[in-house]
Amino acid sequence: MSRLAPEVLSRYEPVIGLEVHVQLATLTKAFCGCSTKFGSAPNSNTCPVCLGLPGALPVLNKKALDLAMRASMALQCQIQERSRFARKNYFYPDLPKGYQISMYELPLAIHGCVEIELEGRKKRIGVTRLHMEDDAGKSLHEGFAESGRWSYIDFNRCGTPLAEIVSEPDLRTPAEAYAYLNTLKQILEYTEVSDCNMEEGSLRCDANVSVRLRGAPQFGTKAEVKNLNSFRYLSHALEYEIERQIELLESGGTVVQETRLWNVAAGRTEPMRSKEFAHDYRYFPDPDLLPVSISPARIEEVRRSMPELPDAKVARFLRDYGLTPYDAGVLTATRSLADYFEAAVRAGAPAKAAANWIAVELLRRLNDAGKGIAECPVEPAALAELLAKVEKGEITAASGKKVFATMFDTGKRAAEIVAAEGLAQISDTGAIEKIAREVVAKSPDNVAKYRSGNEGVFKFFVGQVMRETRGQANPQVVNEILKRVLAE
Ligand code: ADP
Ligand code: ZN
Ligand code: MG
Repeated sequence: MSRLAPEVLSRYEPVIGLEVHVQLATLTKAFCGCSTKFGSAPNSNTCPVCLGLPGALPVLNKKALDLAMRASMALQCQIQERSRFARKNYFYPDLPKGYQISMYELPLAIHGCVEIELEGRKKRIGVTRLHMEDDAGKSLHEGFAESGRWSYIDFNRCGTPLAEIVSEPDLRTPAEAYAYLNTLKQILEYTEVSDCNMEEGSLRCDANVSVRLRGAPQFGTKAEVKNLNSFRYLSHALEYEIERQIELLESGGTVVQETRLWNVAAGRTEPMRSKEFAHDYRYFPDPDLLPVSISPARIEEVRRSMPELPDAKVARFLRDYGLTPYDAGVLTATRSLADYFEAAVRAGAPAKAAANWIAVELLRRLNDAGKGIAECPVEPAALAELLAKVEKGEITAASGKKVFATMFDTGKRAAEIVAAEGLAQISDTGAIEKIAREVVAKSPDNVAKYRSGNEGVFKFFVGQVMRETRGQANPQVVNEILKRVLAE
């Protein structure tokens, strides 16, 4: 619920820039050989390097660099010939080295963009930079108040490779920020840069927010809201923070530059610390690591490894399969769904029918079952077989849906289910005519209505015949026969 009148809100324009941290999908850490496996026993994936023991030497993980380069390319960034890791010094119990290794003045890539689409309108959002860094560990707190207070530290996360992607302050509404994060996530999943699992912390988002009077030449002072680790939190925190700043300005106050946290339980942002500045961190080039130099040949190699990106896939689906933009959008939401669709088409399913069945029936059932397309019990070829039966008129579309439900629940093929349940379409005109005559005989009132020009009741008769045949009558035959019988 908004605390401010709409006419007050509408006088201001929000300005938003996102900083997104994404875990690079490597098996081992950024600078040592420890596993990055999620959920391992606490502190089991550690070594002198990621624990920051004196004398241990880090070595950059090539796969991590390749993934960061792939992300840079997918975000249309310029990959720099030379980049460099720095030490960002700060104290925190879950940071045993006493510094984070992060690219600072020479990031891996700059000047990219992400194209978002909102209500059919496209907008380009600038990507300022993409740089690599390592992650800190995790602190767990337990037993507040009477029972005393305990803190545990798990260093398993320490040294996990991350890419930080910083956007330009080009976003103007929470909805745009949402669309940006969604598109970014989709691109990172397509390129297999990251699994983007938000529950496991593979994708994390900080939002920088300011407001200004519409038409004002300069941006207002921003606050940074940390740790928005779900789409819902991002939307809610932005809505809240925008109103908080407007309210403050309206009451004659000023926004202070600070770092805030989204308090999920209270539904508000709260101050966490005053804004730190770069000089607070005493950045300096990490003397243990070589500068990163990337040859044009290496860039070319990564370019060749790039998969088709979402936009290109949408364009191809529109062109090659004649899908609607809506269906193309739904089917390309993930690479695996798009692959499923194309596998069904390759197995002989007509593209438009396959698109429709997948977008409606299949996704609904997957959603209800809480499953992803990877766990879909119906193989693409099995869906193609079912669609062929509907297409050829062996079963009606209504029966097709029933068969599909059984396929989904049991993993059986369409032919077996149709035979076992006697669902083969009734095209036998004699049988249908008999039923049609019975239906007509039972409803003299409706027959009278129909004959006096009320075409609407025709649907009633069709419905009755379909009911009597358990949805198995060929609808075209039913129509023809009913027209004839009613005209007698
Ligand atoms: P800082 O020096 O505080 O780290 P940066 O200029 O590096 O600030 O920007 C960090 C993030 O904040 C970027 O995503 C950027 O787009 C965003 N940002 C910068 N200025 C503003 C502003 N006035 N309002 C909202 N976001 C901003
Ligand atoms: Zn290690
Ligand atoms: Mg900055």
